[in-house]
Amino acid sequence: MKGTVLYGPRDVRFEDWPEPQIEKPTDAIIRIAATCVCGSDLWPYRGIQKIAQPTPMGHEYCGIVEAIGSAVSTVKPGQFVIGSFCISDNTCPNCQAGYQSGCQNLEFMSRAQAPILRVPHADGTLVATPGMPPDDLLPSLLTISDVLGTGWFAADAANVKPGSTTVVVGDGAVGLLGVLSAKQMGAERIVAMSRHKQRQQFAEEFGATEIVTERGDKGVARIKELTGGIGADSVLECVGTEESMMQAIRSARPGGSIGYVGVPHGAALDVQNLFFALVRLHGGPAPVRRYLPNLIKLVWDRKINPGKVFDLVLPIEQVAEGYRAMDERRAIKALLRP
Ligand SMILES: [Zn+2]
Repeated sequence: MKGTVLYGPRDVRFEDWPEPQIEKPTDAIIRIAATCVCGSDLWPYRGIQKIAQPTPMGHEYCGIVEAIGSAVSTVKPGQFVIGSFCISDNTCPNCQAGYQSGCQNLEFMSRAQAPILRVPHADGTLVATPGMPPDDLLPSLLTISDVLGTGWFAADAANVKPGSTTVVVGDGAVGLLGVLSAKQMGAERIVAMSRHKQRQQFAEEFGATEIVTERGDKGVARIKELTGGIGADSVLECVGTEESMMQAIRSARPGGSIGYVGVPHGAALDVQNLFFALVRLHGGPAPVRRYLPNLIKLVWDRKINPGKVFDLVLPIEQVAEGYRAMDERRAIKALLRP
């Protein structure tokens, strides 16, 4: 079979690799129904994050269980499953506390941009859907694996509550689904910070009530202006640069909360500024496993339609074009079908 390998900056190849097999009793093998390119895949793709050797890619996935190891008990062959991009046992103290992305046996999924995938710790990582999904639900179900789960965590970590005023920094797929998540959690005002016309429209479809196009000092000034000089209750940081992080912190009111989920690259914080900002910071890799049952139910019952973020669908053989389109911002997010 073939899978996706990154060789270096802007060099993605779909090439032969051995078909995965059960290696441990806790493994499952799944046949991928849909996978995709993640915004975080663009860091190594652009050469900002260096890779030491050719690297198999892909960590967002859903599909049908083909085989299970002897110790797997919660999923069985023939079931449709979704898993987190974090592999977790879901039994250790950190998992039990709801932080499966801090599991004592944590691994990060890779090799999911391929037709067949081995999932370690299947019981702790995968959740089955109530039945076989109709084709039109696949994009939304796929988002749960990372991009929706991460946007949801950003909103949860930012303490979004009914009536909250929420600001979302970042108009990538995670930011857009952060808007959707904040709306589901009852935010009254949701300000999306975006300069991109089409993404502003998506943000409004997902529930944004206001758009701010300014960035940096001007962006912060605009948020203050919109909130009577105070700042937002909740800010979702969905980029990962120092500029976006500072924009998020300065957009929050004293006592406000920032949920930060953009993978930091070269971001440093001035602790003295942070001290006087009087804000709560919570973030990191999203514990998607915690949210899987609830998010599957919301999608299954068609209460939310996060799959709209996929504005490009390609056969998986054309994965390189998916990376190119996202790199050049021609696409928000590329779905790949084996
Ligand atoms: Zn664990």
